Amino acid sequence: MNVEKIIQEIYLQIIEIEDEGQVASYIPELANVDATKFGVHISTIDHLHFGIGHCYDKFSIQSIAKVLSLSLAYKILGEKIWERLGVEPSGTGFNSLVQLEADNGIPRNPFINAGAIVISDILLSNLENPKEDFLAFVRNLSDNSEINYSDKIATSEKIVGYRNAALCHFIKSFGNIQNEPADVLNFYFDLCSLEMNCQELSELFLYLANHGSNVVDNHSILTKSQSKRMNALMQTCGFYDESGEFAFKVGLPGKSGVGGGIIAIHPNQYAIAVWSPKLNKKGNSYKGMRFLEEFTTKTQLSIF
Ligand code: GLN
Repeated sequence: MNVEKIIQEIYLQIIEIEDEGQVASYIPELANVDATKFGVHISTIDHLHFGIGHCYDKFSIQSIAKVLSLSLAYKILGEKIWERLGVEPSGTGFNSLVQLEADNGIPRNPFINAGAIVISDILLSNLENPKEDFLAFVRNLSDNSEINYSDKIATSEKIVGYRNAALCHFIKSFGNIQNEPADVLNFYFDLCSLEMNCQELSELFLYLANHGSNVVDNHSILTKSQSKRMNALMQTCGFYDESGEFAFKVGLPGKSGVGGGIIAIHPNQYAIAVWSPKLNKKGNSYKGMRFLEEFTTKTQLSIF
């Protein structure tokens, strides 16, 4: 099977369809992105690297970073982490507050904002220099020192981050945030502001296709069991209240961000990153999802 050719064909097909999505504008700086950008990059365990379109343009990875912050917190705390948050799909939007009261401030999972804010709190308590140490962890995952935060994006979100502030304060009222909300939120906005391109993303995320180990030098980032669980969480919770739809149409563990990026993993085989900034009503890239649906259908490279 010629995966490059299939990607090219699908790319040319999807670039032509009408984009029904809207660029995220609740973070003012994200509204300035060129909505016509569209990139795809695949990296496989057996060293195929192939990209097309704007796959070398950096963009704001936003919630895709939640997989990285969870990986680091999981590495540090192990299974104790699940005392602070759950592993169930929420069936609600990424920034929803509704379940938290009934659940006594325990977020349903680490990929909704509430859960990622608790993970940020855990990292703040366990890292000496949270911002620098987290960046070093991310750079080390792919031996790539080009990866950085965007202060512009982080500041833009901080100014209007009322909903995340509400989530953080509400969780703290239940005793599930240990640090000062302002510090937790600053760190959360910083990690959401990481910028990468599709090539960097697909290469970096290969550890989750490789049982938690780096594909180049085989150093262990997560245990095999932790890697399995990360994939399970991405499969069930990676797309908020569209996780079922993504499993149904694409059939891969994955994670989206409101910058229009999606990373999807096929354990033992590959990681693929897609970027198209316009989002559907659930906050996931419209063309990104369409592309991946075609990709796993044509190649039959889904996990189901
Ligand atoms: N920083 C964004 C927020 O908190 C991340 C959301 C996302 O990418 N789904 O709203």
